Amino acid sequence: MRIGLGYDIHKLVLDRDLILGGVKIPHNFGLLGHSDADVLVHSIIDAIFGSIALRDIGYHFPDNDEKYKNANSMDLLKETCNILTQNGYEIVNIDSNIICQRPKLAPYIEDMRKNIAHVCNIEINQVSIKAKTNEEMDATGSNLAISTNAVVLVEKIMSR
Ligand code: ZN
Repeated sequence: MRIGLGYDIHKLVLDRDLILGGVKIPHNFGLLGHSDADVLVHSIIDAIFGSIALRDIGYHFPDNDEKYKNANSMDLLKETCNILTQNGYEIVNIDSNIICQRPKLAPYIEDMRKNIAHVCNIEINQVSIKAKTNEEMDATGSNLAISTNAVVLVEKIMSR
């Protein structure tokens, strides 16, 4: 088994959709980024690449590449899972935090888990997502940004 760690942060700005875990969340602000800026999926992707020591999201999906402008991060996650499989590993479980002062994310967590499990071809009970606030401190607590952490445990695929 191997473990990977991911972190990401994106700025909250006007006139952008707020997309977390592939769920479009109604809000006055959205996340700024070259892709759809799905900050949760980005940290999970980085954790997967980290688990097999295969660099990071920026290396595999460069943000100066037009191909990834407004990219759906769930497509990037699918490609990441394909790379993981090609390297002979499968996901055991994912755990993650979203640090976000507003909006309240509880109503959307189950849909995010379903989306991520579906794309990674794993069960929903292998995907954990926890929503936290930063107690109104710093950038995330002041609604200037949303940040995320993720860990992913992977296991060598056994020949069946
Ligand atoms: Zn990102």
